[in-house]
Amino acid sequence: MEHDARTFLYGIIGHPAINSLSPGMHNAAFRSLGLNAVYLAFDTIDLEGAMRGARALGIRGMSITIPYKGRVIPLLDEIHPDALAAGAVNTVFNDNGRLKGMNTDITGSVAALRRITGPEGKRALIIGAGGAARAAALGLIKEGTEVFLMNRNSRKAEEAARSLGANFLENLEQTDLRFHIIINATPAAIGQEGSSLCVPDRFLKKGVAVMDMVYRPAITPFLAHARKRGCLIVSGLSMLFHQGVEQFRIWTGLEPPLEIMAGALCHYKSIVLPGKISGAPCE
Ligand code: NAP
Repeated sequence: MEHDARTFLYGIIGHPAINSLSPGMHNAAFRSLGLNAVYLAFDTIDLEGAMRGARALGIRGMSITIPYKGRVIPLLDEIHPDALAAGAVNTVFNDNGRLKGMNTDITGSVAALRRITGPEGKRALIIGAGGAARAAALGLIKEGTEVFLMNRNSRKAEEAARSLGANFLENLEQTDLRFHIIINATPAAIGQEGSSLCVPDRFLKKGVAVMDMVYRPAITPFLAHARKRGCLIVSGLSMLFHQGVEQFRIWTGLEPPLEIMAGALCHYKSIVLPGKISGAPCE
């Protein structure tokens, strides 16, 4: 499809945004459905200016990424109650000039986890208290999961837990609890005993479902270790896929071409890690 005066413009706004995999995934979907649309990456340190520009130019849809998922909220006209509860917006839809904020990380994280486990009635540990952690916590609580939040800055986890109706955990050393689900929702590499951010082996038992939101590499050392211990694992690529699929639905009102979108991510996957990945979108 040639781009012309009627092309709809979409993009990701963040800093950094330059390494995002979302342009590849959404542009592949636009092409496959013959839509006159293009998705770009806007790496900016001026969020307010970017949002004014988006309004002025009629940008149709935006993904919002680090560090703007919370800061974008007061710049929008309408916020979905779930995004407000999570305190984070990762999706903006320009509905005839009204900028509507939503959060597809909420359903995306749950959909990715469902590849390896049903969350109903389970107990989950989420490491982190940022936008992604809060989104996953909200998504799991809605599915009937008992959620515990733990974070480097404990006060943030305590506040997030209180506002979401989750539980707060100061650290893993002082608990006898067992978790059915463990999620890394920080950009940090999780190690084992001795590393600054660590999940001791006694929590990584056979059958425990483990997700790392970090997707570079697709299988992080934390996931690789958990798999060796007999855990079920799911890559952050899977969450990226599911949240992107939901964004596509919101922006276009069309059923997303799942194979094509997964294929765009699998191309990346095959570069960094040949072979099969448990729970990746294209298996
Ligand atoms: P955020 O709002 O900036 O929150 C970052 C969180 O990570 C905070 O809780 C922070 O703790 C913690 N953290 C950062 N560096 C740390 C370190 N070295 N050690 C321990 N904790 C650390 O970011 P976010 O939006 O929640 O995103 C978190 C991660 O998830 C990022 O890597 C992001 O790329 C990824 N993500 C992936 C997907 C996907 O689709 N796969 C979707 C969303 C996000 P403090 O509060 O103590 O600073």
